[in-house]
Amino acid sequence: MEKSRIEYLLKKIEEQTSNAGEEQEKILENILKRNAETDYLNKFLHGQTDKQLFKKYVPVVTYEDIKSYIDRIIDGEPPNILTTETITEFILSSGTSGGEPKYVLSTADCSQKRTSIPMLMEAVMHKHIEGLDKGKGMYLLFSTPDFDTPSGLKARMFSSSYLSSPTFKTTLFKIVTTPIEIILSLNKPQSMYCQLLIGLIRRHEVLRIGTIFASTFPNCIKFLQDHWKDICSDIRTGHLSDWITEPDCRTPMSSFLLEPNSELADLLEPIFKNESWEGIITKLWPKAKYIDAIVTGSMSQYIGLIDYYSGRLPIISTFYNSSEACFGINMEPLNKPWDVSYTFLPNMAYFEFIPVDKESPQKAQKLHFNGVSNEESIEKLENGSAQIVDLVDVKMGQFYEVVVTTLAGLYRYRVGDILKVTGFHNKSPKFQFVERQNVALSIDRDKTSEGDLSKAIKAAEIEFEPHGFLLTAYSSFADTWSIPGRYILFWELKLRDSNTDRLKLDSNTMEQCCRRVEESLDFTYRLYRKMNLIGPLEIRVVKFGAFDELMNFFVSRGAAPLQYKTPCCLKIKEAIEILDSRVVGKFFSNGNLA
Ligand code: AMP
Repeated sequence: MEKSRIEYLLKKIEEQTSNAGEEQEKILENILKRNAETDYLNKFLHGQTDKQLFKKYVPVVTYEDIKSYIDRIIDGEPPNILTTETITEFILSSGTSGGEPKYVLSTADCSQKRTSIPMLMEAVMHKHIEGLDKGKGMYLLFSTPDFDTPSGLKARMFSSSYLSSPTFKTTLFKIVTTPIEIILSLNKPQSMYCQLLIGLIRRHEVLRIGTIFASTFPNCIKFLQDHWKDICSDIRTGHLSDWITEPDCRTPMSSFLLEPNSELADLLEPIFKNESWEGIITKLWPKAKYIDAIVTGSMSQYIGLIDYYSGRLPIISTFYNSSEACFGINMEPLNKPWDVSYTFLPNMAYFEFIPVDKESPQKAQKLHFNGVSNEESIEKLENGSAQIVDLVDVKMGQFYEVVVTTLAGLYRYRVGDILKVTGFHNKSPKFQFVERQNVALSIDRDKTSEGDLSKAIKAAEIEFEPHGFLLTAYSSFADTWSIPGRYILFWELKLRDSNTDRLKLDSNTMEQCCRRVEESLDFTYRLYRKMNLIGPLEIRVVKFGAFDELMNFFVSRGAAPLQYKTPCCLKIKEAIEILDSRVVGKFFSNGNLA
């Protein structure tokens, strides 16, 4: 990226964040002016465009509340029931954390905003890390098929929409090692193979390794374990493996596999043959300066795995984004993964925030606006002393649920993410991603959020780490069929110093892990557990690669590989069965809780 372009983009960020209040006013004003006559807004505002009336009468909603409008548009009704903007496509949210995918209307404006975020982030990265323009990034990126809806509009994942956008093709694509045809190929194994092969052939140009969400990494490591011999043989012979049959992958490869290169194959093979793969990423790509992957929220479970394979390269979570709206970017990219905050960009959407009492998270749930009249909902808010606040009015240290209003027909829409204010960049707040609100394990009155579970599992590290184990992935489900019900955790463990998948699990250690997790859960859990209203927590250790199969399952159901987030709590029977069929050891918490 040219210096002048970097400076221009950084200046833009400074301008916008310095005028956060004005930018937000402008955005809302514009949305109301353009969309006041839509069926939806008209129902509450009767054509008025006053901002205070909007706040007073338009209800705060969830997807379920507006689904009937969206379904009508999918079925072919004119989109002006929700927005007067021209709809270009439907964006599908990955849906792996909340159930079925959601359909979100998208416009040219949305797609421009979506693609501007990685550009802005690129400028921030250049500011913090020198010399990025001297090489490329091996970014593992995958596209998924789109499909037609009865309306004639296409539906696709936001990652696919982004990868085929003109901005990606003309600008960002220039920094990656792989040709666009391979990235856009719909055959994921063939695309992954070629992306890694090219990345290895161009290893001395690779200055960063990345993807979008960290959950792609275990998938990629497993793939390398299964395919490194073929990859080395292709490099040695200069001939692409015959199983790569897709023209989108095969044709561009001819520019990379020009002749046999036994020197490179001789160098790579011993690295792959090494019993331990600790730090393998830096051995394969010695000039890599950092790993670009989101490791906040539920993705934090991959920090250990990435640290292990990368030899502790910095891991950079670049942005916070969703299918519904873009939120913010990480202005201090070199912060440790646990200290990452995202600065909200006030020109992306109109943002409001529902205060959440983290001491009593149920309060946020109680403020449920489904179907209630707006007066009731406002009253509930005021009585619950949880006044919805604007972006510039959030308070340092306070937790909030984010609510968005967009030009594309979302009005006061609860995204379902809980965030914590950690500071301000100029006048725009910085938020730490805390958890998704609706993902929780619960047997009785206990409510364990994604964040609570992650902390409790982290607390158990001191039990298994001294034995050389690394937790590479986890998930869970609430077993409400047993009496009493209990929490079941699936853990994928591996030995730090070896690639063997035959683990010797010591029951004492594993039982201690169960206990540590239980002791680290909240007061209500422990109380109910002591009263035997919740049964002993169980850890089921699964074979290495089991979580890879879980991802394949969700991808086969339509999740985009790039947007896939390992569900922290499983609700789908088949998904539970996939992990259950790969269990190598079951361990229970025993004894009484302190
Ligand atoms: P989707 O629309 O399927 O891509 O999912 C969007 C959701 O992914 C958000 O609402 C968040 O729950 C989660 N998400 C997106 N970006 C981040 C991030 N940087 N850190 C943690 N979670 C994120």
